[in-house]
Amino acid sequence: MTIAIPTIPPKEKSTINESPGMRMLLSAYSHLDEAAERLQLSSGMHQRLRNCERSLTVALPILNDEGEIEVYTGYRVQHTNVRGPCKGGVRYHADVSLEEVTALAQLMTWKCAVLNLPYGGAKGGICVSPNALSENELRRLTRRYTYAIMPIIGPKQDIPAPDVNTDERTMAWMSDTYSAFHGQATHEIVTGKPIILGGSHGRAGATGLGVAIIAESTLKRNNFPVEGTKVAVQGFGKVGYWAAFYLAQDGCKVVAVSDVSGGYYNPDGLDVEKMFNYTRTSPTRTLEGCQDEFAVERITNEALLTLPCDVLIPAALEDQITSRNADQIQAKFIVEGANGPTSAGADKILAERGIIVVPDILANGGGVTVSYFEWVQGLQAFPWEIEVVHRNLRQFLDIAFRQVYDFSERNNVNLRQGAFMLGISRVAEAIIQRGIFP
Ligand code: NAD
Repeated sequence: MTIAIPTIPPKEKSTINESPGMRMLLSAYSHLDEAAERLQLSSGMHQRLRNCERSLTVALPILNDEGEIEVYTGYRVQHTNVRGPCKGGVRYHADVSLEEVTALAQLMTWKCAVLNLPYGGAKGGICVSPNALSENELRRLTRRYTYAIMPIIGPKQDIPAPDVNTDERTMAWMSDTYSAFHGQATHEIVTGKPIILGGSHGRAGATGLGVAIIAESTLKRNNFPVEGTKVAVQGFGKVGYWAAFYLAQDGCKVVAVSDVSGGYYNPDGLDVEKMFNYTRTSPTRTLEGCQDEFAVERITNEALLTLPCDVLIPAALEDQITSRNADQIQAKFIVEGANGPTSAGADKILAERGIIVVPDILANGGGVTVSYFEWVQGLQAFPWEIEVVHRNLRQFLDIAFRQVYDFSERNNVNLRQGAFMLGISRVAEAIIQRGIFP
C-alpha cells in the first residue's frame, strides 16, 4: 500500500502517451486553469486547487474460485476536504487509471461546491472487468478493496458511493466490511446502499429526476414551453431512463432514446415506460428488437445525436458530442446527464451556433444531492419519506440553477464556464477562510 501526494506543475506540456484517463485529466485541468484565470486566482491558490490532497494506490490480492491468487490494482483519490468530508463514487472498469480517478475526484469537488453540499470531491476504482468475475470473486475483491482504503475513509472523512459497474450490493459489502472492522454498524460509511441498510428513498431515480428538473428550468428561463418540447435521450440506464420518464410525465415529447443496442425514434413521441418494461424482460436486457413491438424507427446511436429536437440529453458515455458532429446538432439545448459528454472543441462550435449547454457539474448533480440526503438521514438515524427527499432535491437544484445562470450572465460567460467559476470560487474562499496549515 502506498500513499503518495502528487505535485503537478501547472500548465505542463504532457509528453505522456495520452490514454483516455490522461485526456480526462488534462481536460479537468483546462477547465480549472481557465476558471482560475478568469477569477484572477493567485498562482499559489491555483496550485493548491490543481493538486489532490491524497491519492492512494493499492494492490488487491484475492483468491479466485479456483483457489489461485489474482492481484488487481485499486485507487482512492481525495481532491480536497476543505468544505467537508470527501465524497465520490467507486467504479469497476478495465480502463480505470490513477489519472481518470484523479480527474473525476476534482470534478466532484466543483460539483459539490456548485450544489453547495458540504463536501469535497473524491473518486475510487478498481482496474477490473467485473463481468469476468463471479459474484463470490467480486465480493472478495470489494471487501479487500474496502480493507485497503480503510485508513483514509470514514463517515466524517470520505464516503464512497456507486459509480460505473458498482451498485447497492457493492455498497452493502463495503458497509459490512467497514462495520466488521469497527465493531459497530456504520452504514453511513457509504451512500447508494439498499434501503433496508439505511439507503434513501428516491436515490435510484435522483440523477435522472435532477436532469429533468434542470432541463425544465432551462426551458422556462429561455421562455420555451415544457409542454410538447421534443426531447432525445442518449442512454437508457439509471440516468437516461429516469430523465426521459420525468420529462414525459411533465408533458415533454420524448421522440428518441438509445442504448448500447442502437437508437429508436418516433417524431410523434415514445412510450418511455413501456420501453423500459420491455428491457426488463428482453434477452439482452436492452432495447434490442423493440422496433418489432412499438411504433419506432431504428436508427444509429450517432443519428440520435443529430435528430431534429429541442432538448438533447446525452446520458451514456463521455466524449459523444465532438468537433465531428457538433455542427450537425439540431437541438436548441443540451443538458448533460453523463459526465463529460461534450469535448472542448464541440463546446466552442455549439457556443458559436447559440446552442445552450447545461454542464454536467450542474445538470447531473441530483445524484450526489440525494446521496448527501442519505448521509444526513444516516447520521441522524432518521429516514425521510420520498416526498421530503423530492422537495429538498428540487429546492437544492433550483437554487444551484439560479445561481449558476445569474453568475454566468453577470460575468458574460457560458454556463459551463460560469458553473466552474462559481464552484471553484467557493472552494478558494473556503481555503482562504481556513488558512493554510500550519
Ligand atoms: P448505466 O450503466 O445505468 O446506463 C448507461 C446507458 O448507456 C445504458 O443504457 C447503455 O446501454 C447505454 N449506452 C452504452 N453505450 C452507448 C452508446 N454507444 N450509445 C448509446 N447508449 C449507450 O449508467 P448511468 O448510471 O446511467 O450513467 C450514465 C452516465 O451518467 C455516466 O457518464 C455516469 O458517470 C453519469 N452519472 C451517473 C450518475 C448516477 O447517479 N448513476 C450520477 C452522475 C453522473
